[in-house]
Amino acid sequence: MEWLKSLLAKIEAVTEAEINAQAPTEPIEVNERIISEVPVELRKILAYHNALAEKRRELQRVHDDEHDQPNFARETCEEFHRTIASTGRELKITEPLFWGELLNGLKSDAENIAIRADWKVVEIPEQDGKPSIKMVVLGGADLRGLLRT
Ligand SMILES: [Zn+2]
Repeated sequence: MEWLKSLLAKIEAVTEAEINAQAPTEPIEVNERIISEVPVELRKILAYHNALAEKRRELQRVHDDEHDQPNFARETCEEFHRTIASTGRELKITEPLFWGELLNGLKSDAENIAIRADWKVVEIPEQDGKPSIKMVVLGGADLRGLLRT
């Protein structure tokens, strides 16, 4: 359980400034209806996820640059790949954690939801007649399995 405990501790340690730095900015569209707001505690998961994704992209960029250097030290690859793998595991799990916790606390049966500016949870119009959670903030993963049936 060490891995999960340590992940939860890192999420718990996310500060208000870090939450604000990762706040969603997409405005609410006219055909969307506000049904809730993301609870403050839960914002930490999303802030952690997004900051980690940024950090991982930056590590990748720096490592790719290093590869192009003539005196590149191949020994750094192993640690880099370990870091990429472990951050990847955290990114994969924090996304469904966020949506699972959000859906579980939602006093609404809305199935097409998105997160907008000021942490508003909105119901969005159904598309193609198929219910789905729109991962506007997290980038498109299919989490329909988390929907209540
Ligand atoms: Zn490498």
